Amino acid sequence: MKRGISFCVFLLAFTAMMADNQVASPDGNIVVTISTDNGSPRYSVAYKGQEMIASSALGLVTNIGDYTMALVEKSFETNTVSDSYSLPNIKQSHVDYKANEAIVRYERGEKPAMDITFRVSNRDVAFRYTLYPRGETRVCVVEREVSNFALPDGTTTFLCPQSKPMGGFARTSPSYETSYTLDEPAGRNGWGEGYTFPCLFRTSGDSWVLISETGTDGGYVGCRLVNQKGSTYAIGFPQAGEMNGVGAPTPAMALPGSTPWRTITVGPLANIVETTVPFDLVEQKYKPSQEYIYGKGSWSWIIGMDPSCNFDEQKRYIDFSAAMGWQSVLIDAFWDQQIGYERMAELSRYAREKGVGLFLWYNSNGSWNDAPQTPIGKMNNARIRREEMKWMKDNGIRGIKVDFFGGDKQPMMQLYEDILSDANDFGLMCIFHGCTLPRGWERMYPNYVASEAVLASENLHFGQGSCDFEARNGCIHPFIRNTVGSMDFGGSTLNKFYGADNKRGTVRRTSDVYALATAVLFQSAVQHFAMAPNNMTDAPAWAVEFMKQVPTTWDEVRFIDGYPGKYIILARRTGSKWFIVGINAEEQILKKTITLPMFEKGTSLCVYSDDAQLTGSVKTVSQNKKQQITVTIPCNGGVVITNE
Ligand code: CA
Repeated sequence: MKRGISFCVFLLAFTAMMADNQVASPDGNIVVTISTDNGSPRYSVAYKGQEMIASSALGLVTNIGDYTMALVEKSFETNTVSDSYSLPNIKQSHVDYKANEAIVRYERGEKPAMDITFRVSNRDVAFRYTLYPRGETRVCVVEREVSNFALPDGTTTFLCPQSKPMGGFARTSPSYETSYTLDEPAGRNGWGEGYTFPCLFRTSGDSWVLISETGTDGGYVGCRLVNQKGSTYAIGFPQAGEMNGVGAPTPAMALPGSTPWRTITVGPLANIVETTVPFDLVEQKYKPSQEYIYGKGSWSWIIGMDPSCNFDEQKRYIDFSAAMGWQSVLIDAFWDQQIGYERMAELSRYAREKGVGLFLWYNSNGSWNDAPQTPIGKMNNARIRREEMKWMKDNGIRGIKVDFFGGDKQPMMQLYEDILSDANDFGLMCIFHGCTLPRGWERMYPNYVASEAVLASENLHFGQGSCDFEARNGCIHPFIRNTVGSMDFGGSTLNKFYGADNKRGTVRRTSDVYALATAVLFQSAVQHFAMAPNNMTDAPAWAVEFMKQVPTTWDEVRFIDGYPGKYIILARRTGSKWFIVGINAEEQILKKTITLPMFEKGTSLCVYSDDAQLTGSVKTVSQNKKQQITVTIPCNGGVVITNE
């Protein structure tokens, strides 16, 4: 009893009628001001005294009432929140989360009607809505969310346009696979439908804002960001045409119920690259059924395409993964026709004898697009899915890659969740392609591995233009897509050509050291690299050796230098081993003296670098007294520095 009373002392609860309420980050750098203006809730965000989000709207319009106006602010309560969690599959294996929380309670007839909860940590602001039952009314449809983000005048944008529904390959869009526009003025609206999360903005100098959302599951829809006017952007729901037009674009909730979190990461680029906000705000939804094995693998499809998904070629890739000391092989579409279930069981047995696990490709359909690839009709129905997964478990399959999802409506978000939780029952890990952005899923679903939701390596095979811009795109992802969730890019090839004979096909423009650097730069706990068996003999031995050893799970990340689309240098640590990696997309050679305080003076360092012709080599240097090293990265080249 006594303990309960003393806990209450820490709750600074008071009521305020019209006053501005504030909540600051633990270090005081971020201040969020929450006000109720004529019955309408509003907020603003400042970082170190500089306005990052000007007064912006809050509230929901539902089919049981309008929660954007005529609200009476009943109480404003602040708490301190702390959490300590370990996640082996994100950018940082252990997180000590500290934040200040503010809960604003509103009445409007009902007592209470709605809470808006803010969380403010040293890098991030997040908020969400909780609605309460209204008399006997215990469910609602959220028709509109008015939350918006008024960025300062002069803000420039780094955004990925949302594609219209039922377009692109086999009418599979939107699937978060469009090209970013960089450094554009605010005020545009992509291709007319806004932008996919996360959305990066530069407000001035080294002041940035990354807007996204987290905690989205089958209880809501996946949202996007739509330009309202000037530099003001608002939350948008899915488009009516998504999922073949079936299902509402609006979410339904049981009451009391909460929306996902809207997240705003602010500050210098280091804050953007190092944020853990997608994971800080969510909880594990079920226990892992077993300890999942992360690691590296190969996949034939990226070089050999559909014809390569046959028994003999997959056996060759299993031998290749085994020779590399890798943990898995991903077998892509049409394996059911070109290998068959019986011989797949044989292949899986062969793989396991070699210490290699198999990931198998599936079509998510269903009836939401025309993607013809098989196996199809296995993942969209609980009974058939669970039968299929039982067959996988009986035959020692390690995981699935499910492709061609149908957008962000609530039934589709529920399908992701159902596939994940069923897969856990059968000890299977999940990779999603042709899909939405993961929103905290690494923590929510312990068998979730990674999603595509990016213009991934397949485009390097499909078109020379993607190869020509590979480095530019590579310099975007660590700041935007990959900073909020594991990214299944499928890159790091050492082939010269994206063709089975390595003599024809699209031409790789990037260097071998670039391939090594992106193996570290692009984060996912399971990586299926685009290397091919021929690389054992036709690629430099030092590069092959590096790819054998490179980790896929990390204890820590530190941003060192860079600019979205131009270049990036960052450091990742696993145990006592650091990997400092950089890539450059700018025409001129990048020359930077960087300080590496993680290495003591005299530490022996392995430096992989390129000459001006992009020919790579490795040398050993000793860390100097100033703990500095000068790196030189030509366009399309890379650098990797590790301690031995
Ligand atoms: Ca794709």
